[in-house]
Amino acid sequence: MAGKKERSIWVFGDYRDYFENRVTLQLLSRANELAGKIKATVAAVVFGNNVDEWVGEYIAHGARKVYVIEDPALQDYSMETYSILMERLARKHEPEIILVGATTFGREFAPKVAKKLGTGLTADCVGLDINKEGLLVQMAPSFGGNLLAEIVTPVHRPQMSTVRPGTFQEIPHDNQAAGDVIRVPLPRDLPKDRLRVISAKRWEQTGQRLEDAKVVVCGGRGMGSRAKYKKLFELAELLGGEVGATRPVVYSKWVDEEALVGQAGKQVAPEVLFSFGVSGAIQHTAALSEADFIIAVNKNANAAMMKMADVAIVADAGQLCTALIRELKDRIRH
Ligand SMILES: Cc1cc2nc3c(=O)[nH]c(=O)nc-3n(C[C@H](O)[C@H](O)[C@H](O)COP(=O)(O)OP(=O)(O)OC[C@H]3O[C@@H](n4cnc5c(N)ncnc54)[C@H](O)[C@@H]3O)c2cc1C
Repeated sequence: MAGKKERSIWVFGDYRDYFENRVTLQLLSRANELAGKIKATVAAVVFGNNVDEWVGEYIAHGARKVYVIEDPALQDYSMETYSILMERLARKHEPEIILVGATTFGREFAPKVAKKLGTGLTADCVGLDINKEGLLVQMAPSFGGNLLAEIVTPVHRPQMSTVRPGTFQEIPHDNQAAGDVIRVPLPRDLPKDRLRVISAKRWEQTGQRLEDAKVVVCGGRGMGSRAKYKKLFELAELLGGEVGATRPVVYSKWVDEEALVGQAGKQVAPEVLFSFGVSGAIQHTAALSEADFIIAVNKNANAAMMKMADVAIVADAGQLCTALIRELKDRIRH
């Protein structure tokens, strides 16, 4: 073994919202199954401050090794610093595979690390396996979810994937499990973080989650303005639903990113989806495949969204929204 590096599969320890966000544990579980096929060790990587609790949890859920960089300076998740730390650790220890949960953080963090390491990354995987050549097979929906692509990274290392939460089952907590903890000091030569967290406030979930809503009212650029888009909230409330958005709406800051529906946002599965002023780009409609019934409003009858709708109404989105609100209020009154 002299001089030969141990093969390893790393899982990034994303411990924020630990009790709801189980993706790290799910990845540790799958990593163990994959490790058996390529004779590798499973390691978790944890950055932060006062992280012992998570280190213990990861060992109890299948990590045989945990690399820890702990320092008060790492209290807040920092995209820049964390990606540099991951790059340096990976360059030193040369893991075969790095798995990251496709959380809001992971979806930005993993590509940054992959870029720094000069390797590939398959985003939003829904399956992982090892093929006959010992390569990681990364299964990811493509072409708007119509195809499941099996992607391998034959040359560059590490092989990197982000994986959707809920894809794998976590291994039950095992108090008897043992693992090595490798504490790595925080490098002193890190560039100054360009981002400084002044305060952090938890985003309060009001009402139901967009992903679980039975009625979703989704607005696109065709709503015309922030003020008109905000009317959708009134309509959604009357219908007992939640409000979604397309990317231009989020970029225009008419609504928070939490409302983004699509490839880069949330998947929805309502009984009824209202779509106001949405063109129907594949990156958006990829997240609508589970919607039972779609009502689209667009001034262009040929918009892709109108073609895929069960009911397509050619109208001004803002005006129709106002008219619907009026009608629903009238019905409630009488
Ligand atoms: C890698 C990548 C990932 C992406 N991920 C996502 C994602 O997750 N979610 C997402 O939504 N997009 C995503 N996009 C962007 C996507 O490609 C589209 O650009 C976006 O969905 C278009 O949003 P829109 O329909 O609101 O705007 P537009 O395409 O500008 O469409 C506006 C629509 O409103 C109609 N309209 C205009 N005025 C009115 C009116 N007065 N009344 C009624 N209708 C009107 C127009 O006819 C048009 O159909 C992604 C793109 C890339 C490259």
